[in-house]
Amino acid sequence: MAEFHDVVVIGAGMAGLACSQRLQQAGVDFLVLEAADRVGGRVQTNSSLGGGRPFEIGALMIHGTQVVTHAWLREFGLHARPLPTTKRARFWRDGHLERLPLPGNLLHRTIGLRAFYQGAFILPKRLSAYDGPDVSLAEWLARQDALPGAKLLVNLLYAHASAADADALGVRGPAEETALASEEFGYRNFQVVEGYDALVSRRAAPLMDRIRLRTIVTAIGRWAGGVRIDTMGPDGLGGEVRAKRAVITLPLGVLQAETVAFDPPLPEAKRDAIRAIAFGDAMVILLRLRDSDLAARLGDFGLLWGEGPTSFHRPYVGTHHPPDILDGFLVGREARRRATLSDDEVRDLTLEDLRAILPPSVRVGQVDGYACSRWPVHPFVRGGYSFLPPGGTVDHRRALAAPVDGVLFFAGEATHTHGEPATVHGAIETGYRAASEAIESLRRP
Ligand SMILES: Cc1cc2nc3c(=O)[nH]c(=O)nc-3n(C[C@H](O)[C@H](O)[C@H](O)COP(=O)(O)OP(=O)(O)OC[C@H]3O[C@@H](n4cnc5c(N)ncnc54)[C@H](O)[C@@H]3O)c2cc1C
Repeated sequence: MAEFHDVVVIGAGMAGLACSQRLQQAGVDFLVLEAADRVGGRVQTNSSLGGGRPFEIGALMIHGTQVVTHAWLREFGLHARPLPTTKRARFWRDGHLERLPLPGNLLHRTIGLRAFYQGAFILPKRLSAYDGPDVSLAEWLARQDALPGAKLLVNLLYAHASAADADALGVRGPAEETALASEEFGYRNFQVVEGYDALVSRRAAPLMDRIRLRTIVTAIGRWAGGVRIDTMGPDGLGGEVRAKRAVITLPLGVLQAETVAFDPPLPEAKRDAIRAIAFGDAMVILLRLRDSDLAARLGDFGLLWGEGPTSFHRPYVGTHHPPDILDGFLVGREARRRATLSDDEVRDLTLEDLRAILPPSVRVGQVDGYACSRWPVHPFVRGGYSFLPPGGTVDHRRALAAPVDGVLFFAGEATHTHGEPATVHGAIETGYRAASEAIESLRRP
């Protein structure tokens, strides 16, 4: 006889863990099915490259000062550290590497005070107020009367925030999301001092006997009042679990790839939403450098940005740690392409990107350690995070989040309907929402 539970949660990323926490608190009998051999999903920390120091290869930061992730950290006695990356940014353009312009530095050659003001304030404001036909960000930027440096800044900011190229990203949808968000995005960022994995393992600890790892969900059947989940276990053998309800936290990339079959198929509005929201691509490359004079030449920098595809962050900016490990952040088509290359190729291309940003006189040194995440080709992610392309709206996110036939509930960052998808805290909030919906439906006669 098939195993039976009140609720099956599919996926043990942040949404799945948050959902399970709520189900446990409510005393619901639940089981979590997770395809990978670890929990956390797109949150992953590498602690080997830095001799125990944590470096993120999935989610890098906490965006915002009030978001739920801070409450999770406090609950477990973990710490967040403000990241002064914006203040300590270095930009490379037209053959010059410059700091962020400060008032007084009016003749700034790279981004320039006027261009910076336009890029950081005027264009985003115009973008939020735009009510013309939805076009791509690239098209919209091309039509704007603004300095090239300002356009570059907007291009980089939005591309990184959305894991997308500017010609793929919409204008109206992201503006709608910005208006709904509880905090302005991008300027107040924090790092989990102990590493995001520390948070994941603490949240997961009391749930572990309910989480079944290396169990791939292959099909989800439903009927009035129940669901049947087909699985492939670590032994390669098929299995079946039945439940009254299922909470599905599959990444949008997995839903789009249709590697999980729905029987009967999902309603048309849900399938339309899966197509209308886009799933971006992102990867992180860690480089450990020896004999480098980056710190001596650039000072205590936090972010290096050029016109190339990779931007470089220094996770320990503002501390006494030397910048011996840099993280390269790559998004969009180039991330998807490079994710298919060999380790040597990815490392060499990243070094080329770094050298292209730096003046030739800066010694990059040798790479004596390297790690990267390949989310775009990860079979249980298939991308980076979701964004709204031209024509995509928050209504599509609402349709993606909507329950089906009172038995299937949907969570995960792409289902966030209040302007903060593509984030850790957004994923947590959707997990809480879906848990409440499932609990409520179980209580209904
Ligand atoms: C490179 C990168 C950088 C990022 N940077 C930031 C950042 O700085 N700040 C921030 O807030 N957010 C960031 N994000 C986004 C953030 O990581 C995600 O929004 C969040 O972690 C998503 O959580 P989730 O639970 O919705 O999905 P996931 O974490 O993807 O969880 C889904 C789970 O489902 C499992 N699964 C998939 N298929 C199956 C199957 N068939 N059967 C069973 N299980 C399955 C997966 O293995 C996974 O564990 C970043 C993401 C990436 C990739």
